[in-house]
Amino acid sequence: MLKNKTVIVTGAAKGIGRAIALRFAKEGCNIVLNYRSNVSDELIEEIKSYGVECLPFKADVSVYSEAETLIKESKKHFGSVDVLVNNAGITRDMLLMRMSEDEFDSVINTNLKGTFNTIRHVSSVMLKQKSGAIINLSSVVGLMGNVGQANYAASKAGVIGLTKSTARELAARGITCNAIAPGFIETDMTAVLKDDVKEAMLNTIPLKKFGQVEDIAEAAVFLAKNRYITGQVLNVDGGMVMN
Ligand code: NAP
Repeated sequence: MLKNKTVIVTGAAKGIGRAIALRFAKEGCNIVLNYRSNVSDELIEEIKSYGVECLPFKADVSVYSEAETLIKESKKHFGSVDVLVNNAGITRDMLLMRMSEDEFDSVINTNLKGTFNTIRHVSSVMLKQKSGAIINLSSVVGLMGNVGQANYAASKAGVIGLTKSTARELAARGITCNAIAPGFIETDMTAVLKDDVKEAMLNTIPLKKFGQVEDIAEAAVFLAKNRYITGQVLNVDGGMVMN
């Protein structure tokens, strides 16, 4: 069902984005591998080993014009954009009382505005196609809040509002838009946390284990395939948040 489709994954050089790109390649999709600083030849080759095309594309999604070029060049190269996964994200943790303006702005600019930037440009492509799936990476922190993450929580809660509005605006043309809210997933982003913080988090997870990048990749493929789910937030968090 996804074979030969074009999938853009932002921030795909490592972590969750890398796993998502590989998982869609396994489905037979051509991959636009967006990265900000660098991407390994090894990853590009691994994607191609599934018999698909891989277009590595350097762009900072927080910059409106760079997001526009990413979408336009992807469409030009492959002729369509069928799935957009907004995965690029950063943290700049600090207690609210000490958080600088730059720490707040940079997280909002990448996580929330970056997601808007790509959606803004892909929507015209998908509206013309009358098809498409947009998947945005939110977080359980956007649902629950977290000490030291006011900027990150605000950005990820914003992504949920953006997801639901996009879903409503684009639904009439058969385009879906959903969010995934991961819990604690083992990547570079979470590797920096101290052991006592990790231990405390483990105690809040009913399944008593941290998630793997493949758990999120599987959810992304599911949401891209399903054509009757839109405007939803799929928690992939070992049961941390139960709605
Ligand atoms: P990660 O290992 O830190 O990887 C993030 C990726 O995003 C990096 O490749 C980074 O590239 C890229 N990126 C950052 N800013 C970018 C920009 N402006 N333009 C393009 N690419 C950019 O993080 P992760 O753990 O895989 O997280 C992926 C997503 O899942 C994020 O949105 C994150 O908030 C969300 N999430 C993660 C967890 C978790 O437990 N890990 C939980 C909930 C939600 P550079 O290395 O070049 O900067």
